[in-house]
Order: sequence, then C-alpha cells, then structure tokens
Amino acid sequence: MSWNFDYIIVGAGFAGITAAERLCTQFGKRCLMVEKREHIGGNAYDQYDDHGVLIHTYGPHYFRTNSERIKDYLSQFTEWHPVDYAILSHTENRYWKFPINLNTFEQLIGRESTSEEMEAWLEEHRVPIKNPANSEEVIISQVGWELYDKFFKGYTLKQWKRHPRDLDASVCGRIPIRTNRDDRYLREDFQALPKAGYTRMFERMIAACGEKLRILLKTDYGEILPHTNFGHMIYTGPIDEYFDNCHGQLPYRSLRFEHQSFSPNELLEREAISGKRGFWQPTMQVNYPNEEDFTRIVEVKHATGQLCENTTIVREYPDDFGPGKEPYYPIPAPDAAVIYRKYKELADAEFKVSFIGRLATYRYYNMDQVVGMALAEIDRLHPAIH
Ligand SMILES: Cc1cc2nc3c(=O)[nH]c(=O)nc-3n(C[C@H](O)[C@H](O)[C@H](O)COP(=O)(O)OP(=O)(O)OC[C@H]3O[C@@H](n4cnc5c(N)ncnc54)[C@H](O)[C@@H]3O)c2cc1C
Repeated sequence: MSWNFDYIIVGAGFAGITAAERLCTQFGKRCLMVEKREHIGGNAYDQYDDHGVLIHTYGPHYFRTNSERIKDYLSQFTEWHPVDYAILSHTENRYWKFPINLNTFEQLIGRESTSEEMEAWLEEHRVPIKNPANSEEVIISQVGWELYDKFFKGYTLKQWKRHPRDLDASVCGRIPIRTNRDDRYLREDFQALPKAGYTRMFERMIAACGEKLRILLKTDYGEILPHTNFGHMIYTGPIDEYFDNCHGQLPYRSLRFEHQSFSPNELLEREAISGKRGFWQPTMQVNYPNEEDFTRIVEVKHATGQLCENTTIVREYPDDFGPGKEPYYPIPAPDAAVIYRKYKELADAEFKVSFIGRLATYRYYNMDQVVGMALAEIDRLHPAIH
C-alpha cells in the first residue's frame, strides 16, 4: 500500500503545525504530519497533571513577541492571558530580585538607592570590553565580576556544562540588566500565554486543516517513507539525524524534570514564603544559580492564572544528551557552529526538503521565531511549487 500527499511534515511542534495549517487552509494542500511522540505540540505541549494543575510538560514556555504578524496569526486560534513573567534568584539562603535591577542593587548594598548610584557603581565595577565575544564577557562588561559570580557563572556552568567563556555572547546576553525598577524577565512588547493552553491552541490549528491533514503519532518518519509519495518534505527534527550523523553528532543539552504537587493543606505552611494562598513559591520561576544541582524551580500556575487549589512545582536538572533523552537545547558555541555549517551545506542541496524549526536549523529559537520561520517558508515555497 502507498499513500500520496503533497507534503510530508516531520514533527508536530510549533514549526510543523504552523506549516500544516498554512498549507492546508491557504493552499488546499494534502499533508501528512508524522510525530514520533504520543502527542502534538512538541516541546510546547501542556497538559493537566493528576492533581488538576495545568503544567508545561517540557519546561516552562513563556510566549512573547514583537511581531504583529505572528501575534495576529496565532490569535486566530487562541485568546490570550496577559502575563508579567516574574522571576527571582535564590542564593546565599535568600531570594534576590532578578533580572538585575535597582531592587537587586538595593539588596546587595543593604539600603535604599537610586538609579544614578547604581549606574555609578556599575561604571566602577564593569570590565571595559568593547565587543564582548562570549557569555562571560557580555556579563562582566555590564555588571562586573561580583554580580557575574553571584547570578550567572554557576547557573550557566550547570545549564550548559560549559564555561560561559565557551558559549556565545547571546546565551547570557539575552537576560536584561536594568538600573530602574523594571524587573520584567523578558523584553518583548507582547507577553501572554494562550488562554486555554498551548495544546488547545494547537488542536484548533489542526482542526482548521480538516480532511486535508492526516496525523500519525508515535511514528518515526523513517518508518513510513517507503510507503509514502509526496511532493515536498517539511523537516523539523534534528538536522544531524536527517543526514545519519554523517558529520558526527551535534552537541545538545538535555533536561530532567522532577515534579512535586501540593494540596491546599500542605500549602498553608508555605504561605509565609510564597506570600499567596495556594502557591509554593513567590513567583513563577526561581533560579538556583549556585548551591543546588537543579537550575530552577517553576510553578507555572503563577503564569497560567489557573484557578486550582492544588499546585505543582517542577525542579529542572540539566542533563547530558544521550540515548533515550530529548535534545532540548542546541548548544550556542563556536565548535558546534562548525559542525552545523557542514550539515547546512547538505541541507541547502536538498531542494525537495525544507529544514525549519529549532532542531532542523540548530538554533535556540523562541516559539514566535519558529512560527515566523514557518510562515516565511510557506510564503517562499508556495509560488515555487505551482
Ligand atoms: C525547557 C525549554 C524551555 C523553553 N522555553 C521557552 C520560552 O519560555 N519561550 C519561548 O519562546 N521558547 C521557549 N523554548 C523554545 C521552544 O520550545 C521552541 O522554540 C519551539 O517549541 C520549537 O518548535 P519546533 O517545532 O521547532 O520544535 P519542537 O517543539 O522540538 O518539535 C519538533 C518535533 O519533531 C519531532 N521529531 C523529531 N524527530 C522526529 C522523527 N524522526 N520522526 C517524527 N517526529 C520527529 C519531535 O518529537 C518534536 O515533537 C523552550 C525550550 C525548552 C526546551
């Protein structure tokens, strides 16, 4: 038996589902989407756990964008719950305001201060580096060694198992540093979560495709290729895997998640710490840069706005990548970029395949960037295949 489709789409994450939705609804194409996990949504999948709490299964996903096009596109499939993504850092037995801002500075010096005083302090402590070339330089050139050691060095070493000196400046450079009291974690204009969750939004995108889209879950695309005729492939899996690791495996970082749930009674004694009934910690995310093995504890109920008496926290442990583990993070470092470029050359020669998404382009893209990439690729492909 063999099937005929206009497109085969490998992976049902943001990239694959956006591509499928556009191809089916805008261009009337018949698509087959193949996903090796047992659910849609890729790493942005969310679900209700056994305690009734809506959790982000593969780590917290904070949607944000500066792009009107991307916001408008997704808004066809979801309403939004606006969020100020608030985080803290925990070290030396106390919570610190984070990302670094005037409130953090006041904690550091133990008294009230002003933006001017903080700017003068930073001026005195920062290391003059004109063009920071790595993640250590990007931080010490802004805040100096003391704050780098307190908040960045240990966290980065744990997360990436690499020294910040051996990571691109973009890794630590994406965290804002401010001298006012703005303590928002992220910089983008639009910051919100899909009101009913990511999975519900993906289900609506898929429903819009109707009969044009067929989905196979729990299936590696390699299994069905011999039985499928198609015009073009949209590939969103790891690029090295597509080429059978012929240039060696790209480095990835994996994660292990440890979940713990609490009932309202168990939460009573946490109220003094969380400052809020029904919560375990004061903010959605607390970073643990130094003393613990995990990097952060996330209580996503703070962000989802879900009204639920129970809560669930997730401790996130960075992990080596290997058999049976997910390649969560491409590693933004010069040595990895050298290997990736070899795969990119091979990919550029595959005219019947589009490589889009985080794994296929080996870049730590945010969700909105992946949606943008999928929309742009369908714009590019459509005239070309008619
Ligand atoms: C812990 C963590 C936290 C994050 N937090 C944020 C955040 O706060 N904000 C933000 O904007 N972004 C965040 N991201 C990034 C976000 O997850 C990605 O931008 C987005 O999910 C990428 O979508 P994608 O479709 O490219 O990839 P994925 O979601 O990885 O989807 C690819 C899919 O392809 C499938 N696949 C792979 N190989 C095969 C195969 N051989 N056959 C069939 N299927 C296959 C995989 O199972 C996967 O489901 C985070 C990522 C992680 C890991």
